Formats: sequence, structure tokens, C-alpha cells
Amino acid sequence: MHISNIGDSQAVPDHASRALEILRTVFGYPAFRGQQQDIIAHITSGHDALVLMPTGGGKSLCYQIPAMIRHGVGVVVSPLIALMQDQVDALETAGVRAAYLNSTQSYDEVLQVEQAVLKNELDLLYIAPERLVTPRCLNWLKKAEISLFAIDEAHCVSQWGHDFRPEYIQLSVLHECFPDVPRVALTATADRQTREEIVSRLKLDSARQFISSFDRPNIRYIIVEKENARRQLLDFIRTRHSGQAGIVYCLSRRKVEETVAFLTEQHISALPYHAGLDHAVRAENQARFLREDGIVMVATIAFGMGIDKPDVRFVAHLDMPRSMEGYYQETGRAGRDGQPATAWMAYGLQDVVLQRRMIDESDADMVHRRIQKEKLEALLGFCESLTCRRVRLLEYFGESSEPCGNCDVCLSPPVAQDGTEDMQKLLSTIYRVGQRFGALHVIDVLRGIHSERVLQWHHHELSTFGIGRGKSAAEWRSVLRQAVAAEYVFADHDEYNALKLTEKARPVLKGETKVFLRPYVRPDKKRKTLSITTGQPALPPQEQKLMERLKWWRMEVARRQNMPAYVILQDATLREIAVIKPKTPDDLLHIAGMGSKRLSMWGRDILELVSGFDESSDE
Ligand code: ADP
Ligand code: ZN
Repeated sequence: MHISNIGDSQAVPDHASRALEILRTVFGYPAFRGQQQDIIAHITSGHDALVLMPTGGGKSLCYQIPAMIRHGVGVVVSPLIALMQDQVDALETAGVRAAYLNSTQSYDEVLQVEQAVLKNELDLLYIAPERLVTPRCLNWLKKAEISLFAIDEAHCVSQWGHDFRPEYIQLSVLHECFPDVPRVALTATADRQTREEIVSRLKLDSARQFISSFDRPNIRYIIVEKENARRQLLDFIRTRHSGQAGIVYCLSRRKVEETVAFLTEQHISALPYHAGLDHAVRAENQARFLREDGIVMVATIAFGMGIDKPDVRFVAHLDMPRSMEGYYQETGRAGRDGQPATAWMAYGLQDVVLQRRMIDESDADMVHRRIQKEKLEALLGFCESLTCRRVRLLEYFGESSEPCGNCDVCLSPPVAQDGTEDMQKLLSTIYRVGQRFGALHVIDVLRGIHSERVLQWHHHELSTFGIGRGKSAAEWRSVLRQAVAAEYVFADHDEYNALKLTEKARPVLKGETKVFLRPYVRPDKKRKTLSITTGQPALPPQEQKLMERLKWWRMEVARRQNMPAYVILQDATLREIAVIKPKTPDDLLHIAGMGSKRLSMWGRDILELVSGFDESSDE
């Protein structure tokens, strides 16, 4: 059953009710989210639009539904060739007539799709930008009826962004060749500069701009002090996200490999992804991550662009990213389905030192380096924040908000302590040892440890020897980290990371500035306070069992059809089925995410599974 004649209903004046009907019957959702309805109305009536919405906000429906209502085929430009198959599968599974054109297809397959377009048999066509802008393709499309152009990942047009694609610049020809076809550009990149570039390069001056909040309320932000990062990661996965899909970001290829080995040893299904791996291995790992349940992808930032997997439950950073933009983009890959998810980061002194060094040693010019430095400072401020993480994050992107109640700071507020005296102890010890020693030694002196090196240099005779006995080494590392983050101290790379004082240290030593510190929290304590309110309430045991069975069933179907599990039905839908236990097809149709095509394909199976489960559990 294809919803084949929806495109012929242009005569119906009431687009709004048509759009709602499609949302309900085809996609199985009861209501539009955020600005979806306005955007759809605007595009359906033939106008251009620029849509800025965070990842998981629901951008796809904004062009899919207008393409289904308007005459002709909606052409979707997307750079993510590897994902086209899944996108088209998901649409077909919902009963939408869709196809794609890219370099992976044979000549015959291409011809078939082209014919289908000319015969007006498709609602949506996904196409790679480099193909679209060829004269052959443009000429062919001129013979077809086109309902709209959707330019996905529109920030790829920005020469300053890291996802720049030269072909995107040529997309301005669409406006010249098809002046009457509405165009919509979509992106999850928030900053103003990119937005302006999209408008000017794609000639979207008259497009209406729809800008949503960039908040991702279902993501919980947690930053912990790094002690033994891998152990902390393991603990985090085991206690909060056992058996769930997640991404772990590391800075280097080697660390990716080591982390995979560690997690595998601990019986967690982990796969590596970095640019040093063979192309085939990378593709295979990505496919497994998308298709199988509960895989942890350990990766460098080479991984993630356009990863559409909706049920990534956590993103963990074992190393600090370079900027707030990077942090936001990477953590944003969690929880696209709107269900609770966690962004977790282990952060420590080494991260600050390493990132500063990378900037110092890069061969970028002065201006560039200064920008990088500023971006890093903003991120450090975020990591050391004593106020709500979300407020800080959104503020960086120009949005104001209230404390969220869903980040580590809100959930267990650190009480800022007057750390002036501790800071002075640390700074003067660094000074007394001649600014020639690294963190380990300085902390030994503070704590009054008679180490070999202390004795060798007679540092036990210093006036500061042992003045920090009351604190553990971990506590002093925390003070030192904050000293480096605040730039009282820097680690000199040219001298084996010897700690040195900066100009900013002087007023602190003289007692002219007060210093407030984030108190040190032992990692095990933190876990307890934070696990009190884990996002989603656990299902009762019976429902949990039913959920497991539904997942098994879904895995079977997915394997048979060679599609990712989430294309069949998303977790949230299975969860609702497990809770509501529908008895009739009509009950089932009311579950969010079903829709009539899915009902016709799997309704019987699911209802049988549910009723069979009820009977067996009565025994
Ligand atoms: P984006 O492209 O903005 O990252 P998607 O279009 O992939 O987001 O949508 C994210 C998720 O939200 C998908 O799982 C989609 O099915 C779901 N979704 C979109 N719109 C709605 C809606 N109105 N109601 C419920 N779920 C929705
Ligand atoms: Zn908060």
C-alpha cells in the first residue's frame, strides 16, 4: 500500500489538515513538534526557507511532508551518500515513494530511477550534490516536475566550517535553473556567520528563517574530574548505559585502539573508528554500529557527521574537545529520538595542558591561534563552571535560559569555596622549587612526601614543604588544574612540562585577588548523587521482559530486510507498546511511530507477540 495519490491533492485548499493527516497516518505521530507545522505550511505554499534546528529536532519532516503534498518529486540534496539507503528504506517502510541517486548505483539502476521521476512516480529523491550540478542531471530534471529542493546539511556551503564541500557552492544554480521551485536549506549549525554564508551563497535572501532553540533538553550533561579515565568510563557505562549504544571520543588513534581493547576485555561490544583504519573496515564498523543494538563506537572526531542513528544513548569524551562548537556537535549525536541520553566527559589537568600545547605548536597564523585560544578558554570555563552547564552552553550560542535540573551542576551543586589560601600554597611552592618541576614533584613537596627527588634537591628544607598535608594528591591536582585553567600557571612544553607562574599569579600571591574553587568531589561520591534521578524511569519487570522480546522480534525483521533496527520501529515505539500492551489494530495505530503502512506489515506479528506474552506470563 503506497500513499501514491497524495501528490495529486494540490487542489485541496487546506494544506494544514492534509499535513496533519500525513503526520498521523504515514509517520504515526500525533502532533507536530516546535516549528514544524509553520515550516511545512510555508514551504507547501511555495516559499523558500532556511531552517535552523538542533540535531534530533525533526528537520526531515519539514521537507518530506511538503514534498508529499505538492505536485512532483521533492529533490533532497545530501552529502551523506552512505546514509541514503537507510533514509530511503525508512521512507519506504512508512509507505512513501522514495529513491536515491548516487555513485554506488549501476547504470541500469540510475536509468530506472530517472524514468520513475519522469513518470511522476516518486515523492522524494535523494541525490548527492556533485551529481545534481552536472549539466546532464540538470537537463534531465528540467523535464521533470519538481515539488521542492531541500538542501540538507546546508552548512557544508561554508568555507570556514570543517564540513566544507565545494560542490555545495555550485548549488546556487538551482535558483537560476528552477526559479519557481521552492527551496529549503536545513542545518543544525547554530552560529550567525554560517547562517549568513548559507543565505548569500545559496541565494536565499528572500527565504524566511526559522530558528529554533538549540537546547537538547533530553541530554544530561555530566563532567567528571579525570582520575583513571578508562575505569571511570567503564563505571559510567555499566551503571547507566549497560547494553546501550554510545560513542566514545578520543583524541588519538592509539587511544581509540587501546580503549577498544580495554572495553572488549570488560565484555562491552566496542568497535574502533579513525582515519588510520582501512576504508572497508571503517565502513563495516559504521554499518554494524547503525544496524546492531548496543554497540559502543570508540572514535576520533573523524566519526559522526550525519550519523542518523536515533538511539545513541550516550556520548562520552575521554579527551576534551577543542571548542564549545565541537562539544555541542559531538554530544548532539546522543538522543536524537528525544529519549533521555547522557553527554559525559572526563576532564583533567592533562587536557588543559595538551590543548594549549596543540595550539602553540600549530602552524596557524597569529589571528587564527588567538581565535583557537579564545574558543578553548570558553570551553574551559564551561568545564570549571559552578553554574548550570546548559545555561553556559546555550549562552555561548546566544540563547538565555534557566538552570535546567538535568546536568551535574544542577543535580549536585558544587559549593564554590574560597580557595585563596590553597592557591597561594600551590603558587608559592611552584615558586620555591624554582619553577623547574612538574606536577608530581610540586604536589609531593606540598604534601610533605620524602621522595627520592625531594631529598635529592633538599626540597624538604623549603618553607612550603608539607604545608598541604591536609589534602590528598587528587585534591591538589584539582587545585592545580584550576590554576592552569585560570592561567595562573602554565606547563612549559620546552622544559618537560615544568610548572611556571604567569603574571596573573602575582596578585593572588600578594593576596590582592580572591580565588574561588570548585571543590574536589571523589568520583565514587559523585556517582551516587547523580544516579538518584536517572532520566527515564525503568520499566517494571514484566514490561521490561516484553520490551526485550519485542527487540528480539525487531532484530529478526531487521536482519531479514537488511535494515537497521530503528528503521523498522524506534525504541520509544517499542517501549510504548510494552507499556500499553495493545489488543487491537486500532490500539496499535495509536502508538507513536506506527503509521498505517507499518501496521499493515507487522501489526499481526506484534499483536500476537503481545497477547502471547500476556498469556504466558499469567501462568
Ligand atoms: P534532525 O534531522 O533534525 O536531526 P530527524 O528529522 O531525524 O531530526 O528527527 C529526529 C527524530 O524525531 C526522528 O526519530 C523522528 O522520527 C522524530 N520526530 C520528528 N518529528 C516528530 C514529531 N512531530 N513527533 C514525534 N517524533 C518526531
Ligand atoms: Zn543544569
